[in-house]
Parts: sequence; C-alpha cells; structure tokens
Amino acid sequence: MSPDRPPRPPRPATAAIRAGRGASGLSLAPALWASSVWESTCLDDAHRRATATRADEFYGRYGNPTVRSFEQAIAELEGAEDALAFGSGMGAIASTVLALCSAGDHVVAAKQLYAGTLAFLQGPCARFGIDVSFVDGSRPGALGDAVRPGRTTLVIAETPSNPRLELCDLDEIGSIVGPFTVVDSTFATPIGQHPLSHGVDLVLHSATKGIAGHNDATLGVIAGERELVDAVWAYAVLHGAMASPFDSLNALRGVRTLAVRTAHQAATATRLADRLLRHECVTAVHYPGLESHPQHELATRQMLHPGTVLAFELAGGRPSAATLIDRLEVARCATSLGGPETLVCHPMTTTHAGLTPEERADSGVTDGLVRVSVGLEDPDDVIDDIVRALA
Ligand code: PLP
Repeated sequence: MSPDRPPRPPRPATAAIRAGRGASGLSLAPALWASSVWESTCLDDAHRRATATRADEFYGRYGNPTVRSFEQAIAELEGAEDALAFGSGMGAIASTVLALCSAGDHVVAAKQLYAGTLAFLQGPCARFGIDVSFVDGSRPGALGDAVRPGRTTLVIAETPSNPRLELCDLDEIGSIVGPFTVVDSTFATPIGQHPLSHGVDLVLHSATKGIAGHNDATLGVIAGERELVDAVWAYAVLHGAMASPFDSLNALRGVRTLAVRTAHQAATATRLADRLLRHECVTAVHYPGLESHPQHELATRQMLHPGTVLAFELAGGRPSAATLIDRLEVARCATSLGGPETLVCHPMTTTHAGLTPEERADSGVTDGLVRVSVGLEDPDDVIDDIVRALA
C-alpha cells in the first residue's frame, strides 16, 4: 500500500468478523466474563468505579466486559460512537422511552410498530402521563407534521415494520428538528440499513432476532452518539433490564456471520415472494424487494438488502392459515424471526392476539395474514414446502 494512501475502512461483512474484540486479548473467540461483581483495590478505587459512567468492572448491572464487546461490535456496524445492550428488545424500548421522556411530554409514534411497543406506548406511557400520538409512518411527512414544537420530546418509528413490512422514510425522520428520533431497525439488521447515517439520533434492535441469529439469546441494543447513549445508561442502570454476558457472547458469534446469513435469507425471501405473488390462493404479498410493494423505490434508496421477512394474505382467512401451518414440513410455526429455521407465524392469533379487532384492522393485521421469517435452509426446500402446503 502506498504510504500516503489512508487505509479504507473495512466493508460491513469484514467489520462484522473483527468487531467487538475489546475484552478478548489475543483470543479469536470472544471471552465470556460471567462475573457479576469485581473487587476494588482500595476505597478510592471503589469510589472511582462506583461513580464512573458505564464502569464495566464494578457490578454487573453497571456493565460487563463481554456485554461491552457486543456493544462495541454493534456501534462499529452502525457507524455509531457507542451502543448499549439490554436484556431484550422491549428492555431497550422501555428504557429508552422512559430515559428520554417525563410526565407531560409528547411522543410521536408511527402506528406501524411491533405489538409490544404499541402496548407499551398505549399502556404504561399513558399511565405515566406521557402523551403519545400515533400516525401513519408510511405517509410522507406524517411523523414530522405531528411534532408539537417545545412539547414533543421523542419520535419513534420502526422500518421495515412488523408484521406488514411497511417503511418509514429515514431521511425524513433524520431531518426532524427538536425531539430525539429513534428507529427500530430490527427487521433490517445493522447490515441492511444505517438509520444514523440519515441523521436519526438512535438506532434500536431486538438483537434476539437476526443479530444473535440462532434463537439462543434474548437481547436488545441501541446505538448513537456517546452523550445520548450515556444518558440512556444513567436511567437504564436503575431500570435494570441489562443484557446477560452469555446472551451477549451468543450475539457476538451471531454478528460474525450476519452478512452471509442475511444475504442468503434475503435471496430466498425474494424468490419466495415472487412465487407467492403468482399463487392463486394468495391475495397480497408484502415484501419491500417486490416492485409491487408501494414503497419499493424507498426500499431501494435506503435499504442495502430487501430483508429476510415477508408477509402474505390468504384468501381463506384464518382457516386457510391453520391448514397451511398444519401442512408445513420444513418451516416451523413460531413467532420469532431472523434465525436459521424458516418460521411461519399467524399474527392475528399470536403477536397481535391482545389487540381489539379495531386495533388489529388499524394495524392491517387481517385474519389471513401470514408472516414468514426465511431461514438458512436450501431455498428450493423452503419454497417447495410453502407452495405444497398452499396447494
Ligand atoms: N422490535 C421489533 C421490530 C420486534 O419484532 C420485536 C419482537 O418481536 C421487538 C422489538 C421486541 O424484542 P424482544 O422480543 O427481544 O423484546
């Protein structure tokens, strides 16, 4: 390499292999620090650890070196100054909202949100006096228009959204001035889009899904500017939804293969979506990679791959969905996503079961809506299985 040419930063797939080695010395595999407490050498040292922001060798709720390595890996992949991990995606959402909002504050939320996030904003937030306005986040300008200057402290959106794969425009969210902006990017993973590069303040993931990627960890994570992440930590250390070192270790292993897994899963999802579009039992297919998706142009602008999850509607409603699920042999009936197994879920009876029929209708969750998280099996086996079960 010529001496005057600065080295180019590694591409995401390469960064994912190397990221988060901070606490592992020369070991290629990350080290597991199972400890929940560290000894201090003297009272001055104890005081320093107790009062430091994010001490990772003091007490497990304050921080842990293995968790820190996972956080550093996500910060690197998201192009963020820092990251903070939690015991679940909901732990990340609840801690972030409660860290940044007080009674009397106003929140603007896209109505296209994971049902648990919706329930949190509608239930506990309302009870604590946080006023939430829900708007159609897929409608251009809707999130920004709902901001009340001086009152709105937070704008929160999810893109692509669970379960109908609707999108919000990241440039638009990033240009909102005043409130903090938070984007749940779980469905895209840190390989699929970079909300921070569009000006969004915090990107958030349920790392239980594609990031950990093997259905063996329950984790959440946020990433953004250090000052803001530290402010969330100052609340989160009291809220207590901290990440476990074991799950962080599993997620660090997941990060290594994230790029290759999402590439395979997105390629299969693209083929499956295209096949379902031509199936006579299917009335609609929701997948940002399809030209027929109403926001396909936005997807190509802000996403690096069209995602590993799709949804489709069955003409026969719930009975057809039940028959389909009974007949599947490769895909499993389960509600999570982003893992090695292809998972099929019926949102009406599972993720959205707690909503009223009106709320379900408003979320676009019809009786015949089926969500598929495409796994790592041979693409032909996945497609044949679903097409055979539909026959
Ligand atoms: N965000 C999205 C988009 C999700 O799909 C989920 C769970 O399905 C969550 C957040 C919550 O994550 P967790 O189950 O890890 O708490």
